[in-house]
Amino acid sequence: MTAHQTTQEPPISLLDPTRPPTPAPGCDVCDALDRQRAAAEEAGDIRRATAYEVEMRRHPGHRGGTS
Ligand SMILES: [Zn+2]
Repeated sequence: MTAHQTTQEPPISLLDPTRPPTPAPGCDVCDALDRQRAAAEEAGDIRRATAYEVEMRRHPGHRGGTS
């Protein structure tokens, strides 16, 4: 059991337990949002990453599964 991770953890708690949202397959918008989310997260901009997640969840045309 050597599951000790040495990755930096952000000072604020990462969003919520339902993350990350799954981008709808074949949806360019969700795909773009997911990439931007990942980029923002890598840059340490959790706020922005969260905003992208919210957008992705609210993207009409398909369901994310959570209700
Ligand atoms: Zn979408």
